[in-house]
Order: sequence, then C-alpha cells, then structure tokens
Amino acid sequence: MGVKEAFKKYKETNELVSKYNYANFILGFDVETDCPEKDKERSYEVQDFFRQKALDIILSKETQDNLKYLYDNKELLEEFERKQIEEDYKEVLKLNKIPHDELIKHMQNENRAGLAWKRARINLDYSNFEKELNELISYNFKYIDWMKKEYKHPLDILLDDMEDGFNVAKYDEFFDLIKKDIVPLAKKICSLPKLYNTKLDNMKFDKYKQMKITEEICAMMGYTNQNGCVRETIHPFTNGINSNDVRITTAYDESLFLSNIYSVMHEAGHALYELGQDPRLNETSLFGGTSMGIHESQSRFMENYLGRSYAFTKKLYSILKKEFPEEFSEITVDDLYKYANYVSNQFKRTEADELTYSIHILIRYEVEKALFNKEITPEQISDKFNDLFEEYLGVRPSNKLEGCFQDVHWSSGFGYFPTYALGNAYAAMFYNKMKETLDIDSLMEEGNFAPINEWLDKNVHTFGKSKKNLEIIKDTCNEDFTPKYYIEYLKNKFETIYNIKD
Ligand SMILES: [Zn+2]
Repeated sequence: MGVKEAFKKYKETNELVSKYNYANFILGFDVETDCPEKDKERSYEVQDFFRQKALDIILSKETQDNLKYLYDNKELLEEFERKQIEEDYKEVLKLNKIPHDELIKHMQNENRAGLAWKRARINLDYSNFEKELNELISYNFKYIDWMKKEYKHPLDILLDDMEDGFNVAKYDEFFDLIKKDIVPLAKKICSLPKLYNTKLDNMKFDKYKQMKITEEICAMMGYTNQNGCVRETIHPFTNGINSNDVRITTAYDESLFLSNIYSVMHEAGHALYELGQDPRLNETSLFGGTSMGIHESQSRFMENYLGRSYAFTKKLYSILKKEFPEEFSEITVDDLYKYANYVSNQFKRTEADELTYSIHILIRYEVEKALFNKEITPEQISDKFNDLFEEYLGVRPSNKLEGCFQDVHWSSGFGYFPTYALGNAYAAMFYNKMKETLDIDSLMEEGNFAPINEWLDKNVHTFGKSKKNLEIIKDTCNEDFTPKYYIEYLKNKFETIYNIKD
C-alpha cells in the first residue's frame, strides 16, 4: 500500500474515532450540567463504553501498523498531514507503555473520583474521595515508572505531560520569583484596609439580571449561541469538540456578582481559543489546546489583562449601572475597579485576585512536589496544604473544603496546577506584544474585542496543536519564555492601586 492510500485509511479511522469522541463530548457535558443526580453513574458507564470503543480502534494492530507505516514514511507526506501523524504517534507510544487493564481501570477511577469529590462537598466527608484519590496517586507513581524516561524529580514526568518543556527545575525558577517578589507584596497589601465603597460587600444581585449581563458580555466578546452555550455548574469549565462547538459553564452567586462575570470571561477566553482554530484541524489530532499553559493564557488574558483593567471596568460599570441602577447609585467606576482588584487572603483559588492567584498555585505545586518525592504520604496532603497556606498567606484553612480539596483537579491528574500560573505569565508576554500594535485601553473602553480576537486568532489560536507552546511564544513575542513581564505587571498594577512605593 502506498503512502497516499495509507493516509486515506488513517483518515477513515480518525473519522470513526471522532464520532465516538463526539458522543462522549455530549455525554460529558450533559453529566456535568443537565443529567439528574440519580442517573450520573449510568452516564459514566456509557461514557466509559464509548471511550473504550475509541481506544480499541486506536490500539488495534491494524490501526497501529498503519500509523507506524505513515510515521516511518512521514517525509513523503505534506506538512499538515505529517503533523497529524506525529501527534498521534506520540500519543499512541505513550498509551502503549501503560498496561491495558490499568489504563481502563484508571479511566473509570477518574470518573468515580470526580463524582466522589462532588458528593463529599455536600456533607464534608472526604473519606470516599480520599480512597479514590489514593488509587489515582498510586497509578501516577506507576505511570512515572512505565514511561521509562530519565528524570531528576519524579514529578518531572507528569509536568512535561501537561506542558511541553517544563520540569521541576524550570518551575522552581519561576515560583522562586513569586516567593521573592509577590508573596511579601501580597502579605503587605492584605493587611491594608479596603479601598472601595464597602456597600458592595453586602449587596445582592438578582441571578436573572446577572444572566442577562452574561449574555451581553459574551456577545461583546464574540461568543454566542452560534458557536457555544453557557450553562451552570459548581466548578465552571469549558468543553469543546471542534471550531463550531465549544461550550462553557458558570456559577451564579447573588452576593458576588463579579464572580460570574469574570468566570464567564475566563471560560469564554478558553472557548475563543478553540473556536479560533483553523477549521482544517477539526476532527484531527491537531485540534485543541497546544498545551494547558497556552490554553490558560487565553482565559486569563480575557479575565484579567482585559477584564480587570481600568478601561474595561468603565465599560462594565455602564452595563451594571443600566441593569442595577439603584444598587450602583452611590458606587463609582473607581469603586468598581478597586473592588474587582481587591487583594485578599481568602481561601478560594477560583475567587482569588490576580496578585494572590499564583500563590494559591505555588501552594498546590509544593504539595505535589512533596507528594511525588515521597516527603509526605497522601494522608498528609491536608496538613501540608494548610501549613503552606499559613506560611504564604497568613491564614489556616479550617477544613478540607476550604483547604486541599476545594478543587476537583487532582481527580484527573497531577502536574496540572503549575500550568495555571504559567498561563498568566504567557498572557503577560502576549499583552506586552499586543500593546505595540493595538491601543488595548481604547478598545476596552468601547468593549470592542474584535481586533484583539483577530490578533489572538492569527498569533495563537489558528495553530491548535500544530505549533508547540514555546514556539508560539518565540514566534509571537520575538523572545523566549520569561516570567519578567508577569512579575512587572503585577508589581506595577498593585503598587499603583494600593499606592505603595518601594
Ligand atoms: Zn481556565
């Protein structure tokens, strides 16, 4: 068989797998949103069934032989075809290193752990979740061995899986800067009084009006019911399948109206990334985020660099005043800006301000490091988390809901959290570069996202996985990755708001 024919066969197989993936995408979104509590287990069973079907095709001898043949002859393929083969080949190599029964068991464990996490929150009993988590931790230890790669720190293997080119040594450099420059600044600011009209703290904002505002902001950002939808969950997330369908969720809190607004801007940022990809990538292995860090850079860019800027706050103020005229009668733009950028040592990562955000991540990173270096046992995660929280943010969580298990992420893997902090730093580099050609503040005052989306589409989104994280940074920003813009941005912004001089 020639290369052309082999590629045709590869595409046919891909089409079949992508249909199973599509079914799972719908089920996966449904189980988190509309599916009644009593039928969730059944939904997970059906999802497992489809995942296994897809996996059976991917790992069949026929598919693998064909993929290997194409990989060995990749020089004969066009660039776009070659990249698909390389991406798939890399993934299949990894899958083949994992014993098949362990892989299947692990997929089921992940779902069960996610469900156990949700149920544990209701009565604050984490014993079931901890049982599932222990299994996942031991799987990850085995996974590190199965990969048969050299490492300096066991976590390196997991970190590199989540973000190409990153390991403990590199992240340590990054987080050392956070410890040196950001932790002391955050501690200092947390001790200062609030700078905004504190009437905002006690106001209630009707959920349905918030939904209307959500719709208006999404439309402004170019995210509509033509290419997505917004539903409700405890933990907001984004789930996409191709450049025509990327869905998001949010959570409404009547006493924290900004929580929903920034959450939606965040998730819409993730969605726009996938919606902005070259449609040629649809239903290929190249569709999706090139790395977790780049994905997060797009969401944090929208949420913080734009959403929490003074310029956008002005626009937001006019929207809020229209919907809540009474509530906002004594509130100024300045109040809103300082409220949106209020620095506090509260416990929730998802509600954290920009300054303490990376400290929340630093804490999780240090827990993961200690766990995989066997300095602590899984039973000691909570104490370690609380000790670190106290050390860096000066307060101690009183239970696991406030502390180590507030996030669901460890039920789907380790090494994920650091990419969140990295995303902020990538975003700072994009922001800095974008400012050279766009007047971001004027655009934000008008709520005009189109030129910004165009810039991001062209420099970041369009490539999907066909370009690596660090390549995108280098080509777009004309320099290698550096956290310096991020650190400078945070210091400038918050020293100015809180009027602190060195
Ligand atoms: Zn995100």
